Amino acid sequence: RAHLSAPYLDGLNAEQRRAVETLEGPVLVLAGAGTGKTRVLTTRIAHLVSTGRARPHEILAVTFTNKAAREMKERIGALIGPAGEGMPWLGTFHAVSTKILRRHAELVGLKSGFTILDTDDQIRLLKQVLQAANVDDKRWPARGLAHLIDSWKNRGLDPARVPAGEAGAYANGKGQQLYAAYQARLKTLNATDFGDLLLECLRLFRENPDVLAQYQDRFRYMLVDEYQDTNVVQYLWLRLLAQGRHNVCCVGDDDQSIYGWRGAEVDNILRFEHDFPGAAVVKLENNYRSTGHILGAASGLIARNEDRLGKTLFTEGEPGEKPRVSGVWDSEEEARQVGEEIEQLQRKGLSLDGVAILVRASFQMREFEERFITLGLPYRVIGGPRFYERLEIRDALAYLRCVAQPDDDLAFERIVNTPKRGLGDSTIGILRAFGRDRDLPIMASAAMMVETDELKPKQRQTLRALLGDFARWRARLGTIPHSELAEQILDESGYTDFWQKDRSAEAAGRLENLKELVRSMEEFPDLVSFLEHIALVMDTEGAEAGERVSIMTLHGAKGLEFETVFLPGWEEGLFPHQRSLDDNGKAGLEEERRLAYVGLTRAKRRAFVYFATNRRIHGMWQTTIPSRFLDELPEEHVAVAENAREKRSGYGPSRFDNVQTFGTSSYATPGWQRAQRQGAGATSGVARLPGVIEGELIAKSTQTAHYTVGARVMHQKFGPGAVAAVDGNKLTVDFDKAGRKMVLESFIQAA
Ligand code: ATP
Ligand code: MG
Repeated sequence: RAHLSAPYLDGLNAEQRRAVETLEGPVLVLAGAGTGKTRVLTTRIAHLVSTGRARPHEILAVTFTNKAAREMKERIGALIGPAGEGMPWLGTFHAVSTKILRRHAELVGLKSGFTILDTDDQIRLLKQVLQAANVDDKRWPARGLAHLIDSWKNRGLDPARVPAGEAGAYANGKGQQLYAAYQARLKTLNATDFGDLLLECLRLFRENPDVLAQYQDRFRYMLVDEYQDTNVVQYLWLRLLAQGRHNVCCVGDDDQSIYGWRGAEVDNILRFEHDFPGAAVVKLENNYRSTGHILGAASGLIARNEDRLGKTLFTEGEPGEKPRVSGVWDSEEEARQVGEEIEQLQRKGLSLDGVAILVRASFQMREFEERFITLGLPYRVIGGPRFYERLEIRDALAYLRCVAQPDDDLAFERIVNTPKRGLGDSTIGILRAFGRDRDLPIMASAAMMVETDELKPKQRQTLRALLGDFARWRARLGTIPHSELAEQILDESGYTDFWQKDRSAEAAGRLENLKELVRSMEEFPDLVSFLEHIALVMDTEGAEAGERVSIMTLHGAKGLEFETVFLPGWEEGLFPHQRSLDDNGKAGLEEERRLAYVGLTRAKRRAFVYFATNRRIHGMWQTTIPSRFLDELPEEHVAVAENAREKRSGYGPSRFDNVQTFGTSSYATPGWQRAQRQGAGATSGVARLPGVIEGELIAKSTQTAHYTVGARVMHQKFGPGAVAAVDGNKLTVDFDKAGRKMVLESFIQAA
């Protein structure tokens, strides 16, 4: 098998070739986005196999996601053909660890059929542990403990290794002891949680040198993609295995390190050269993915980070189209514009598979999903359920269904004990049986049962209170805006509180999704039509094959590439995300900037960036300011859409001096901020008032459920006035004193 003429090597540049052909000893490829790092890895595997250096099963390749693993398998298959000898060990750190653990489970006190707990199970178990230790789980929620334990596990610390100073972090010094108790419980149940997979595998290696030696020997060649995002435990795991043959090749990009919040450490890159002396370090600088302007914009942006190793990137390709930046009124217009752009691309014959929407926060997805459903544009959400399928959305919808449709048993059963009220399966069982006998829906059965002694007093009381809640909510139907009612239901039922107390990493996102759900209701005249709409949206499920637009988070987009990328929501507070700034200051900002860099560098030919002037965040309409990242895109590499330019003209900076923002108040506001403030501008000092703008606005529609042109209305700030135009939930009103303004329907009342 001569490799001189190996076709897979053709077309690699000299440095890539060096990375592929340096087979013995450690290799570190440190290079920017789109320079072919992943391609180097796949080619290297092909090279190892076809030169006979290694048989496939002697190769271990670690990818960051299962999706990446699948893609790499396909690419390798294409390179080396159906290689009867099997495939390399190829998967995420977790997948590979699981495979190893199953073979040696008994050595770490497990049986090979051990179960892997999901987050819900994990929490349930932690609650039992807290109870057994007499720790009040109201004061010290199980999710907080889960978070703490995960962070220890990410750092490779089993209970015995937790540093003394950190053990006091939870429940007055009981953290470590609870951790140990939890691990013991897991063992009795023959179970692990997700974080255990690596930790237990590491322990297996540490405590069983013979087992370690076996794998060190077996994996003659190891390869790791997205190396910058490995955390400590993964690094330790890798180092142990690689200490056998030292043939480890890691590829990564410090500028794309975006999982710091999950314990990833860029320092692993620096540690590599230290731990593997004599490592060949390869730098790749030729970007093959993106056109010149896209690369220029991304490079200019990331150059603002101080904490980076620094590298240059160039492309030999054409300059191409400049990334386009547009300002829009709100997320609805944003989705509309994106939809229009995509339809145009479609008319030009471009495939939808080459189009991606990359959002910073998952709540942003809903507006795009709705729009695409309306347009009939096929789409897929990658890395998570679609908006209306999310757990918290389904729960919230169940509450609303119970209010609108008292006979909806499924909905009632879903929420009767969510959040926990002590109405468990046995109570539901009694209700169900009672209803079945009399052919009654469960809620009606419950209404009768609470008048009897069939239920225990405690359950009877709770159930009566819940029925009372529903009666109260139903009575409000039609008297207040239904979105407001929804908010009240979520608050009064304790559901919002349930997530607010939750300290897991996803809780904040779930709360955002709930707010987004409430917001989306404003687009419908009443609760029933909203629920009908949902039923229809849910019905368009089904995974028909065919081209689709991809919607995903920026985090989920790592390593991928698309012809056209849409980047919505570039506003202070959303991107950079306020949470990152608050929690981690400058480091947080730099991680957000790397995320922006990841986003832009996914694009091969076209990038569209948007900022909205108004966005509802944390349930409040906020007048936003454009992301500082827009300012940081080098002018020569971006095209500013006409609408955004207009916004710049005619408004002196003084008008915006005291605009309140939800971003960092210390942030100076250069050109871009001013550019956008046409909308925000006039709201000086009232930015907290939802989406109020002055100026000329053309209303497209005069149809609304609540107000018609000419109607007299009352606004909480501007006083009485007459409706001049209506556009969805936004009204243009001629106020008697304040003049013409655009206001949101929910902030006015009929006068
Ligand atoms: P990221 O940092 O985003 O993960 P990467 O460095 O892994 O990027 P790849 O995904 O491997 O980059 O490659 C980017 C694109 O460039 C791919 O479409 C790949 O096929 C192409 N490419 C890589 N090397 C070459 C080359 N020598 N000639 C032509 N195309 C190449
Ligand atoms: Mg890659």
